[in-house]
Amino acid sequence: MSKNIQAIRGMNDLLPADSDLWLFVEKVMSDLFTSYGYKYISTPIVEKSETFCRAIGEATDIVEKEMYTWKEQSGDSLSLRPEGTAGCVRSMIEHNLPREGIQKVFYRGPMFRHERPQKGRYRQFHQIGVEVFGANGPKIDAELMSMTNSLWHKLGLKDVTLNINTLGSSESRLKYKEILRDYFLDCKDSLDADSIRRLEKNPLRILDSKNIEMQSIIENAPKLMDNLDDESRKHYNDFINYLECLNIPFQVDTKLVRGLDYYNRTVFEWTTNELGSQGAICAGGRYDSLVELMGGKPTPGVGFAIGIERIVLLLQKLDLLIPEPLSIYIMPLADDAQIKSMQIADDLHAAFPEAILYNDISHGNIKNQFKRANKANAGYALILGNDEISNNQVSIKPLKGQGEQITVSIEKMINYFKEGV
Ligand code: ATP
Ligand code: MG
Repeated sequence: MSKNIQAIRGMNDLLPADSDLWLFVEKVMSDLFTSYGYKYISTPIVEKSETFCRAIGEATDIVEKEMYTWKEQSGDSLSLRPEGTAGCVRSMIEHNLPREGIQKVFYRGPMFRHERPQKGRYRQFHQIGVEVFGANGPKIDAELMSMTNSLWHKLGLKDVTLNINTLGSSESRLKYKEILRDYFLDCKDSLDADSIRRLEKNPLRILDSKNIEMQSIIENAPKLMDNLDDESRKHYNDFINYLECLNIPFQVDTKLVRGLDYYNRTVFEWTTNELGSQGAICAGGRYDSLVELMGGKPTPGVGFAIGIERIVLLLQKLDLLIPEPLSIYIMPLADDAQIKSMQIADDLHAAFPEAILYNDISHGNIKNQFKRANKANAGYALILGNDEISNNQVSIKPLKGQGEQITVSIEKMINYFKEGV
């Protein structure tokens, strides 16, 4: 026998046992975003590498070491997408959409980063994210916070923390970069190799360092907050005022600069303490110069991405129950019950579109079919034995301890599930 083939490290199967929770999470999110006026958008998983290099920035972990990139025979360099914003922006520009007014979109799907796999960190992972193009003020930044805040409530997640910071305008950021470079140059001997490399290219990224030995130097670094331009300060203050008026608790984290180059002004991250160093569950910010940088007309942008694996891990860890729909196991036991069982299944599907119906296909005996019904975690068994078939009836047996088995006409069956559940 030849050796089994296995999946690639860091790229996981989603197995049937876990997929209910996964679909629940995706549905809650898509429904919520839709209710805030966002439209679904889908862009290819593969893009020209330039799309990502230009958007994300050359001196970032993602572009420097995490992208899956290869050369086509034509010489084009292509990459698997490491995140969703770059493709969205490319698509917006290509189809000229911002010209039609403010665009609110959400996307979801797999992203790829060549990182060291560990719990909550994978090489293929899934994000659901939103982007808004064409809206300038802090109101939309605040609406994103209000929307995510209500998302955690809907999912039943408590103890998530909102961290915010501001990166100012690109000009004040540039000025700040120089101030920061001077500061870090003065303590160059204490910097690690990564930071020394970043010193020239992008000293801001040193603040993002996860090296514990660097933390006190970072802690004492000059703050962008003290070097803001007036307009960015007003944007920031107004943003905070919205959060306070909407009772959304937050912490200011002046070290929060985000791993991608394209952000300005508002940046934020929702974190949890339950997932160790993979604590970021949702992250994003404003990127007012990105559309122009990618070749479009100047168009402000703001958005975020949520890591689905981390949300699912968190829900599993907290053991939160997801709502169970009506579920019925149909047992055609009489020899001639198969066609009837299909007709009944049709009626039930039409009457209860959200219900889960299992119409037995095992042809096992009654004991066997009850076993299967329990394994499927069905709430009810619908029995079609000889007596039921000859009287045009069904027997309904609750499987989770609610009530007695009863026999009713097929017409009354629908009523039973409407009222009896
Ligand atoms: P981290 O600091 O954990 O590396 P990041 O800043 O690189 O996160 P973003 O690029 O902002 O992450 O992506 C948004 C979200 O996507 C993260 O908050 C996280 O929930 C999720 N995410 C990012 N990288 C991974 C990964 N390799 N595996 C699983 N989820 C991820
Ligand atoms: Mg990362």
